[in-house]
Amino acid sequence: MTAKMKVPFLDLATPHLELEEELVAVFRNSLRTAGFVGGSVVDGFEHDFARFCDVKHCIGVGSGTDAVRFALMAAGVQPGEIVITVPNTFIATTEAISQAGALLEFVDIDESTYTMDPERLREYLETKCDRDARTGRPISRRSGRVVAAVVPVHLYGQPADMDPVLELAEAYNLIVVEDACQAHGAEYFSRTEQSWRKAGSMGKAAAFSFYPGKNLGACGEAGAVTTNDENLARTVRILRDHGQNEKYHHEMEGYNGRLDAIQAGILSLKLKHLPEWNEQRRANASRYNELFGEDPDGLVLPVEAAGCKAVYHLYVVRTKHREELRLVLADAGIGTGIHYPIPLHFQKAYRDLRYGTGSFPVAETVAPQILSLPMYPGLRFDEQRYVVEKVNNFAARPVAATAVVDEPCGEQVA
Ligand SMILES: *Cc1c(COP(=O)(O)O)cnc(C)c1O
Repeated sequence: MTAKMKVPFLDLATPHLELEEELVAVFRNSLRTAGFVGGSVVDGFEHDFARFCDVKHCIGVGSGTDAVRFALMAAGVQPGEIVITVPNTFIATTEAISQAGALLEFVDIDESTYTMDPERLREYLETKCDRDARTGRPISRRSGRVVAAVVPVHLYGQPADMDPVLELAEAYNLIVVEDACQAHGAEYFSRTEQSWRKAGSMGKAAAFSFYPGKNLGACGEAGAVTTNDENLARTVRILRDHGQNEKYHHEMEGYNGRLDAIQAGILSLKLKHLPEWNEQRRANASRYNELFGEDPDGLVLPVEAAGCKAVYHLYVVRTKHREELRLVLADAGIGTGIHYPIPLHFQKAYRDLRYGTGSFPVAETVAPQILSLPMYPGLRFDEQRYVVEKVNNFAARPVAATAVVDEPCGEQVA
């Protein structure tokens, strides 16, 4: 038994203290040049982040939510058309779809990676849609609307299985927008292309969030769209800035969705450290895996799919005794999170979609079992050993004493 420690779920303070002088210099530069919104600092970050993602264009915006919304709109999704995503993601993904004027439909996730199951997407397109006789586009039988786009989410830092998603998108004429808000720097080996590809470079466009807790985080709100499509990039630039390309010449109504220069300067600075921070996260994940060993008692460890380099935004385990384990860990001074406790189709916000219990069995089964353990670049070996010791002590207790969550997550009645 080791002495009691405190292991936070996330440590946002240390990296900023380490970079404090340089971060303050960014702010000072903004004050002295009065460069607050747009300008060369924003251009510089866009250039650097495009390069980091292996894409031609990066457009800085105000948040990840705006990034998903602008990417869908600029890619040509029309109001009233359907955009497909997964029920196990942060609500920002689906808020952005609705804000783009589109309608939301879901397909289930894969039980080992928790990302979109391409087989469920195939099944949806083949068995739950008809093809429009004239255009050949899929029409959802559920809503009678055209299916225009799909948003795979690279959840917890692991790319979704993009080859089959892209193949289906090609066959059904769907736009693909990656939600890469949790996956800055993650990589996917494309069997089709026979090469490694960066998250954010595979779809027609992709969305990133730089919310402070993300792998690359601002000191405030920020996001970006990445794309290789010049026209799409141009449209996002206009959408983020009141529909104007030239001051007071408005091609359309747009939004106030720009990236501010202080955040851009901070992001440029932190981007230099991101490869190293991602490596530390990967090393921490391997160390957790080693410490838990193969087949730990009643605990399912995260699976890095073959051909994926995940950047472990989160390290998510599964147990049928999630609630008790969470309490035991909290008691031991260990912070945890749940990403996410209620699948989106059971949220009150989406009750009008009328998805009943059993609509997405995998998402419903895992939601009451998933638990995110402490994960951040500076997590130390002794801290990880302490976490694993506490989890293992819990797992070794007689199971009969604790309630088993074997029931899938039921419909949430308000
Ligand atoms: C954080 C996040 C977003 C939204 O980003 P914001 O910058 O908070 O608007 C979207 N999708 C996913 C999967 C996220 O984790």
